[in-house]
Amino acid sequence: MRFDILTLFPNMFASPFQESILGKAITKGLIQVRVINIREFSLEPHRVVDDAPYGGGAGMVMKVEPIARAIEWIKSEDPSAWTIYLTPQGKTLNQEIAQHLSTRPHLVLLCGRYEGVDERVRELFIDEEISIGDYILTGGEFAAMVLVDVISRLLPGVLGSDRSALEDSFSQSLLEYPQYTRPANFRGHFVPEILLSGNHSAISRWRRREALKRTYLRRPDLLGKANLSQEDLILLEEIQKEVGKE
Ligand code: SAM
Repeated sequence: MRFDILTLFPNMFASPFQESILGKAITKGLIQVRVINIREFSLEPHRVVDDAPYGGGAGMVMKVEPIARAIEWIKSEDPSAWTIYLTPQGKTLNQEIAQHLSTRPHLVLLCGRYEGVDERVRELFIDEEISIGDYILTGGEFAAMVLVDVISRLLPGVLGSDRSALEDSFSQSLLEYPQYTRPANFRGHFVPEILLSGNHSAISRWRRREALKRTYLRRPDLLGKANLSQEDLILLEEIQKEVGKE
């Protein structure tokens, strides 16, 4: 999978893509990340990339020409590259959108700055607009990092063979069960006995019940989308009664 990131601040990406799982995925060639400086595509003196908005108002707007040239250059190499503009006005990112995007072999991520990009960039060069939440960042770079991270960990081999993204929160429309590691007793707070029992089927049942309970308490809206078995529904009924008594 290939990511091309279009930004005015390429140095921001140096460390996040060198570390841990993403760093290893890049070294192993499972993902390719190319960070492209939009400024290099400006033909103006001093490589200007922004200008005042028509109609007046505060702030600057990113100009259409350098972005157009950058995207056209990428498309001349790969016409099927899928272009995404990170913007608070886009569809809000979730696990389902990430799954869908992970099937595309080549994504181009455009990071805005200032008041955003000239509207003609969106009209002429952008396939999809994605937001990472209902708040305003100073620029699209952090949003692009989030997108690369979320998508990469869904790709085969990136998390390693011992780890499956399938159990993570949201992947089955359920939040994940609580996790514990050594010590078994921390200042009188004990790890649930069952996790020390070695009884794998009992542990799986406990984890399923805890995942259902946590989702019911924190994100009941997800339960409507979850694929629940008859056994899950019985557990949920039990959980509802238990919580009602607490
Ligand atoms: N004036 C714009 C608006 O109201 O929609 C916001 C501009 S914001 C200060 C600058 C850039 O940050 C945007 O062009 C976008 O690339 C990025 N950005 C800000 N918030 C974002 C969010 N929630 N999700 C994705 N990108 C965001």
